[in-house]
Amino acid sequence: MNIILLGPPGGGKGTQAQFLIEHHGMRQISTGDLLRAAAKKKSPLGLEVEKYMKAGKLVPDDVINNVMKEALEEGNDGRGLILDGYPRTVQQAKTLDQMVKLMNVSVDHVINFNLSDKEVIRRLSGRRQCRECKVGYHIQFAPPKKEGICDRCGSELFQRSDDKIEVIQERLRVYHEKNDKLVDYYRSSGKLREISGEGSTGDIYKKVEGILGLSQ
Ligand code: AMP
Repeated sequence: MNIILLGPPGGGKGTQAQFLIEHHGMRQISTGDLLRAAAKKKSPLGLEVEKYMKAGKLVPDDVINNVMKEALEEGNDGRGLILDGYPRTVQQAKTLDQMVKLMNVSVDHVINFNLSDKEVIRRLSGRRQCRECKVGYHIQFAPPKKEGICDRCGSELFQRSDDKIEVIQERLRVYHEKNDKLVDYYRSSGKLREISGEGSTGDIYKKVEGILGLSQ
């Protein structure tokens, strides 16, 4: 089973993907993670996309479509794919349809997480990460014992440059501009399910499993 998770940045797509990986052995393809890894390595792709990411803009469709094509070819091992952060435009969705058709696989479910802008800003602006061991914190919901310091390894915590408030606002603007049309596209395919992204991650996960027919 292959699925797409849609929703705003900070909407919980990555968290739900982690649960599906742990409990059902699925495999996640997160375009945001792939691009961040490329930017960190300073690969040609990384250098090309960094400016878009830092500004909260979408990278061009042709660039991201190639990234997804490679990831799909590598990741199509029958374990069930979770696409997180792709597609983000109708053009990407149409390209994805062509790619999966050529690979003889299907997209079985599309889940859209709905979340208010206020909640997105609260979640993203409070996120912090350890520079060394990468553990995630939130200054309000999961603060470290000592401000700015990782509980686990004692290294410095940092804020992702695209989690700064002005960049979050731009990411939200871009999200609203594109997502409605994308949701309409999948609604017309009959695969779309919408759920609230607010509330406990465990409760949301139960709904996700229910939609996917994975509940015990
Ligand atoms: P994310 O972690 O999914 O919020 O992605 C971080 C950044 O990577 C986004 O703000 C975009 O700059 C870029 N990005 C990730 N996925 C896509 C995509 N499907 N289309 C265009 N840009 C993307």
